[in-house]
Amino acid sequence: MTFHELKVSEPILKAIDAMGFVEPSPIQREAIPYLLQGENVVGQAQTGTGKTAAFGIPMVEKTENQRFTQGLILVPTRELAIQVAGELQKIASHKKGLVILPIYGGQSIERQIRSLSRGVHIVVGTPGRILDHLERRTLHLDHVIFCTLDEADVMLDMGFIDDVRAILSRVPEKAQKALFSATLSPEIKRLVQDFVENPRFITIPHKELTVPNISQFYYEVRESEKPQALTRIIDYYNPNQTVVFVNTKVGVEELKEKLHAAGYEVEALHGDMKQTQREFVMKRFRAQHFDILLATDVAARGLDIENIDLVVNYDLPQDEEYYVHRIGRTARAGREGTAVTFVTLREIKRLKEIERYIKTRIERRRLPTLQDIEKIQTQAILDEIASVIEEGGLEKYIDILTEGLSTYDSVDIAAALLKMVMGEQPEEELSPVEENSPTVRLFLTIGRETVDIRGLLAWISDLTGIRSQELGRITMREGFSFVDVPREKLDDFLSRLDRQKYKGKTVRVEIARERK
Ligand code: AMP
Repeated sequence: MTFHELKVSEPILKAIDAMGFVEPSPIQREAIPYLLQGENVVGQAQTGTGKTAAFGIPMVEKTENQRFTQGLILVPTRELAIQVAGELQKIASHKKGLVILPIYGGQSIERQIRSLSRGVHIVVGTPGRILDHLERRTLHLDHVIFCTLDEADVMLDMGFIDDVRAILSRVPEKAQKALFSATLSPEIKRLVQDFVENPRFITIPHKELTVPNISQFYYEVRESEKPQALTRIIDYYNPNQTVVFVNTKVGVEELKEKLHAAGYEVEALHGDMKQTQREFVMKRFRAQHFDILLATDVAARGLDIENIDLVVNYDLPQDEEYYVHRIGRTARAGREGTAVTFVTLREIKRLKEIERYIKTRIERRRLPTLQDIEKIQTQAILDEIASVIEEGGLEKYIDILTEGLSTYDSVDIAAALLKMVMGEQPEEELSPVEENSPTVRLFLTIGRETVDIRGLLAWISDLTGIRSQELGRITMREGFSFVDVPREKLDDFLSRLDRQKYKGKTVRVEIARERK
């Protein structure tokens, strides 16, 4: 079964293809035809079944580029609003001009009003904030033709039932309705009875949850950039617990040292450890005594920990089956997870093979910059501030501020506090591992295919007089090598070695590119 057979239109087929969806999930197979025909649907389905696209595809199909809101999606949380709006945006990426906006509490209402006034075709929002806009008359639902309730059971659990009913009563009666919920409690059934006329019921049994909730990305990195890429990724995704897969035991140990040096709490798991040792590490990881575990494939067998939300393939797995097994360590017990894979240029082909094997496209991403990370961290703090404000009980602090700092502007005070909370941010794009390092990493265009490590050391010592004991870490690859050289020997090393010949081949030596 293909999306084409479900009568999805060309621009959307293109978008879905780009999203890496190869075939429709069970709920999509059932719901999309009904919804495209204009029928109402009540679907019993959890996250991870592909329900967003199940209603998102027909909704985008039916929405036209006209100046009023035609689609309304109610969701319980701000995270879901952002996520659902993001997925719909992708689905609509080849439909020109469609505007899809997430709307939730805690975000500046003025900004939302400005966006709404410019015209939004599909609104994805939390009930409280949507109702707020309806009351302010900054959102109009008279032209809505398609309305979806996503995670209806969660909305009711969160006490939104009155808001939901108030909103639904303002949606035109003839608008098409879809409701998704993990459970169909009596309260949900009453809601359906009152607002969803003559629906088709779809139930997706648990074992058919074929689409696991794992977002998969890859990052193109150089071998030498990997340690820093990893810390970036961890800072950016800010996971609860991470498992990092490295192909070799030596690799695991090396990485562990680097991460320790950069201030990360990590432990290792590999085949050289005794069973009792391994069990001890796993137990501590499960109890969340530390949050980053470095592991080889063999050692990680049977690792079943619910909290792992990020898996990093630091090295590309040697076997497709390993890939499946590795990423399966995340998104346990119906949770969501992210799997990130580092790929060097020459490994791209292998990655394509893995994609073919798992029948899913792995999306390419660019490494987050320090600014991206700072932005994310600032946003997290702003969110926290918003929720503290909404909680109330600030009178005591307001009094203190108005007495103690009455000469300052409140925005200045807030900015100063934010600066204090954020701490000093590094200004340069430099690896914490390398800062002030007494050695310099050099890149040599000679590798294992030409010489072994002893030969290389002998050649270096011959030409520069620098002996192997004075050198730091040496990494040899097929066509090139890295050598750590004491900073004070750098000039000698470069002037005596660069462009010298080894067995007739000119060898270039340069400072390894700074990690960006
Ligand atoms: P959902 O249940 O809507 O939260 O979707 C779970 C995840 O599965 C999301 O990351 C979707 O992008 C993805 N997904 C949805 N439908 C498909 C499909 N037909 N093929 C592959 N992935 C899908």
